[in-house]
Amino acid sequence: MTLIALRTSRPLVTVEEAAGVARELYGLEATASILDGERDANFRLSGAQAGTVLLKCIDAAAAGAAIECQVEVLRHLARRDPDLPVPRILPTLSGAALGSFERGGQRHATLALSWLAGEPLACERREPPLLAAVGAAIARLTRALRGFEHVALSQALAWDVRRLTDLVDTIDAVASPALRRLLRAVDRRLEAAAPALAGLRAQAIHGDCHGHNVLVSPVTPGPIAAAGGSTDVSGIIDFGDMIRAPLVLEPAIAMSELLTERVSELEQLDALLHGFVSVQGLQAAEVDLLFDAITGRHATTLLVEAWRRQHDPEGATVLEAAAAAAAESLARLMAQGADALTARWHAAAGTHPSRLSLARRRTRWLGAGAELFYAEPLHIVRGEDVWLIDAEGRRYLDLYNNVPHVGHAHPRVVAAIQRQTAVLATHTRYLHESILDYAEQLCTRLPPRLDTCLFVNSGSEANDVAWRLASFATGRAGALIIENAYHGITAAVSALTPGAGGVRAPWVVALKCPPRAANCETIADAGLLAAARADVDQAVATLNARGFAPAALFLDSAFTSNGVFDPPAAWLGVIIERLRALGTLIVGDEVQYGLGRSGSHFWGFERRGFEPDIVTLGKPVGNGFPMGVLIAPRSLVEAFQAGCGFFSTFGGNAVAAAAGLAVLSVLERECLMANAAETGACLQRAISSLGSQQACFGELRGAGLLWGLDVVDAAGRADPERARRIVNVLAREQGVLTGLEGPQGNVLKLRPPMTLRPVHVQLVAAALAASAASAG
Ligand code: PMP
Repeated sequence: MTLIALRTSRPLVTVEEAAGVARELYGLEATASILDGERDANFRLSGAQAGTVLLKCIDAAAAGAAIECQVEVLRHLARRDPDLPVPRILPTLSGAALGSFERGGQRHATLALSWLAGEPLACERREPPLLAAVGAAIARLTRALRGFEHVALSQALAWDVRRLTDLVDTIDAVASPALRRLLRAVDRRLEAAAPALAGLRAQAIHGDCHGHNVLVSPVTPGPIAAAGGSTDVSGIIDFGDMIRAPLVLEPAIAMSELLTERVSELEQLDALLHGFVSVQGLQAAEVDLLFDAITGRHATTLLVEAWRRQHDPEGATVLEAAAAAAAESLARLMAQGADALTARWHAAAGTHPSRLSLARRRTRWLGAGAELFYAEPLHIVRGEDVWLIDAEGRRYLDLYNNVPHVGHAHPRVVAAIQRQTAVLATHTRYLHESILDYAEQLCTRLPPRLDTCLFVNSGSEANDVAWRLASFATGRAGALIIENAYHGITAAVSALTPGAGGVRAPWVVALKCPPRAANCETIADAGLLAAARADVDQAVATLNARGFAPAALFLDSAFTSNGVFDPPAAWLGVIIERLRALGTLIVGDEVQYGLGRSGSHFWGFERRGFEPDIVTLGKPVGNGFPMGVLIAPRSLVEAFQAGCGFFSTFGGNAVAAAAGLAVLSVLERECLMANAAETGACLQRAISSLGSQQACFGELRGAGLLWGLDVVDAAGRADPERARRIVNVLAREQGVLTGLEGPQGNVLKLRPPMTLRPVHVQLVAAALAASAASAG
């Protein structure tokens, strides 16, 4: 094995000889006392004339270029950051940085350094502010080392975690099978992390900032005044293990050693890391690898000790205590797991995990099937009005999300939620005003018949309860929907949400949607209406044949999952009239269109010209606070309550009510419905005038701030592949977020917060044109 520092090989020099060297080479009259050292014979020289000096006697043959490197780095640091508390070189009588003497036929080099006051950090102290100062001081050293180069920095050092594989054969020398397993796991992880580690920014690092190499001055503040740190750190010594390596190894080694000196609390590691990044920021990808670097350093300590037990028993003794602590710490870190600790260190470092590591973690905890948008998934960390901001600070114009109805993180809604959570967050079984205020405000905006509310937590739940209510009120068990409908995820409403396989529940039948067209009103011909009548009769007959009668028809008033369009009012009129005659209730699902999105009407059903028996609300009502509401005639609700009882723990809680009230108030204050009409018209004009060169865009349908834009091929047919490419290009290259919709998945869905303004429309039009050119 060719690794340096596996074996300890200290030159044999007596204190008398050291005192002689001091006198002859440096002109210092001093008494010498021996100090610890693995590879060098180190002496403390004390004497009135000399002050205190550290004399290093180095095996010149073994160290070679490494001694020069130590000299050069101390000179570099003295120039780069003169106040950094690192040793200064005391020249020999002839003015050289290195001296040399011979003993027993062997040549030794000498290096005399100024003595730095203070006690090793390893001794006692562990308080977080001090550790933060230590982190800051190490970071300051790291900054000062930037740009330092020397051939010896590529030395093959046993302590370099990147060389752990070279030590792996030694695992067999570890007695404990459990520890052997842990060491193999660390090695596997490090091997997998090697390419990522190699891709990080690298520079000269001290490489050995353990508690005996960092001096602190408990009484008199030392000379360092690290930016953001305190004056407690009086020295960083021992530049014998320097390597060129990823910068992140510097704090990783310090953190690992902190654990190894005495198994420390995680808060202490956080403090050190926090101090480090206050001076030298870390990148997300660097923090992602801290766990492997720290556990790798533990593994190195354990394997170097195991190797020495076989080949260098005296050298092994020096590491015995550290190895025992490393084993204990390693078991603890591995039990806590990389994910939890990495998340913790990201918080301490003020970074966010990289997208790759997040995606891996997501698959681990949410399953491979958890849907993610875009070929290059986004790591969104903040929302602001119509903008979403990712972990790197890139801003995306959000044309997709309708949940933040009045804009992402609207300050008034946020404040209302915060205020209420601080006071009371409980259920609706006590008297409380705000839920009544909210119910009243909703009902005054609805037709008078719809006058009583039930509160739940999502659109799905609202539809689920609507289904129970309708079924209870009519005593029937059959349901009708429009083909390709989406109504939610509970057992009942997922049956009302057919998906690609079509309707599967025997108690549900889908009605055919008329042909999708931008100007449907003009095609409401007699043929279409006759077909609608026949379709309803057929659907009811099918239900009857299966032993069901139609309790309700569910209608998404925006026809979103049909690709966004306005079916002819007469078509819907025929259907509703026929079903009403049969005693079927009409459920208006306002989860998409409610609260003014169309720009022309507060409710989607008003725009479609029908009045439902039950209305369900979701997504936009809480602006991100999970809420669902059902509104129905009082007689229906009271009969249901009496017959079935109804209570939802979180539904209508005081915080939800505060959020709902705030949304309604902002909608009005900021005239957002009028804005939806104005901005929507502007958007329509801009998209329509994109011109014929954007041939991949077909029909544009919609109103207000909900639009569907067909993506088509050269022959004008639906082109879902092209649509997917455009959505990805829009996100990645243009920073504009959209989604796909429609039975064939070729409709670009434009459904931004209601605060999208005409100024944003210019961006949208330019982005659509560019994406068509690039992905079309
Ligand atoms: N109805 C419609 C029309 C919807 O679009 C959705 C959600 N996409 C739902 C109901 C279900 O709402 P939630 O996801 O909040 O349960």
